[in-house]
Amino acid sequence: MTASTTNKTGFDLRNLVRPNVAKLKPYSSARDEYQSISAKMIFLDANENPFATDVNSVPDPQQRNLKAQLAALKDVEENEMLLGNGSDEVLDLIFRAFCEPGKDNVITLPPTYGMYKVLADINNIENREVLLTSKFEPDVQEILKNINGHTKLLFLCSPNNPTGNSFSEESIFELLKNFHGLVIIDEAYIDFSEKESWLKNLQKYPNLVITQTLSKAYGMAGIRLGICYASAEIIEVLNKIKPPYNVNELTQKRASERVDSKEDVISEVADILENRETLSKALSEVNFVKKVYPSDANFILAKVDDATTRYNQLIAKGIVIRNRTTQPLCKNTLRFTVGTQEENEKLIGALKALEKEEI
Ligand SMILES: *Cc1c(COP(=O)(O)O)cnc(C)c1O
Repeated sequence: MTASTTNKTGFDLRNLVRPNVAKLKPYSSARDEYQSISAKMIFLDANENPFATDVNSVPDPQQRNLKAQLAALKDVEENEMLLGNGSDEVLDLIFRAFCEPGKDNVITLPPTYGMYKVLADINNIENREVLLTSKFEPDVQEILKNINGHTKLLFLCSPNNPTGNSFSEESIFELLKNFHGLVIIDEAYIDFSEKESWLKNLQKYPNLVITQTLSKAYGMAGIRLGICYASAEIIEVLNKIKPPYNVNELTQKRASERVDSKEDVISEVADILENRETLSKALSEVNFVKKVYPSDANFILAKVDDATTRYNQLIAKGIVIRNRTTQPLCKNTLRFTVGTQEENEKLIGALKALEKEEI
């Protein structure tokens, strides 16, 4: 570890890494060692079938082409990036690198993305839940009170799923400064937000980790490509434990093509944002909708008279949304993904028809 891992705020990466991870020697493949001169080499190291099928060779374990594209697009260094089989894999790697089962804990802020808790449970890590405030903002004082010597990770989902809002910058800055574990900001929905990504703060906060994904705005949920941005030191730790070929060849290719046609993504996002405004307005005019929450994402949370009844009625009409009524602070809420204009019109038509039905 270099001196840069320690800073005056008291953050020291060496205190966070699990001892077994700190001392392990990662799996090394010949492709890792000779990738830079690969064009000139004959590879007889990995017992592959030599006849070309396009995918007869193992994929690049470091996904260099895709990382170079993302580095240029996001203005970060390639060694500040780790790619995974969806952000779910990236989040799991973070747990496994830093949290000692049965000993360490993490903090999550319900109502939020369900995978943080599932991953904590899978890894046998205590999940300390600190509810968001009634305005769906992090309760900074309460979070700081819940931190102890074994708190390794704090998950901030911004824009937050399922509430749709981005957290206040002030709260996030305060948490970054006062928590000496890793602050993971999940930016799965950042491309739908007016707020800027936290990527520009990567150099300033050695404890900042940002995750993004091609599953939402980029329209590539099927290929599974998640991205983790963090200091080179943190990325080095995660690289030690990632499965060597965790991002398959087809995914690398499709992701690369999609990142290359960024204009398509931008124009689709613009359409989705327009449809979001239309849907939001239409929802607020439905007589059993009590409240439509503002959204910085590609979904809308709305409070209705009886979420479970309305959910079942929509299912009967062939429309599947998400019932969030059992989530804290979300009683009688439904989450609507913004679809195409046609899908949204069908949804609104169905809701209008329900206005006349008995509940
Ligand atoms: C959808 C979603 C993801 C996406 O995960 P992938 O594994 O990359 O598909 C991550 N975080 C949040 C908050 C999400 O809603």
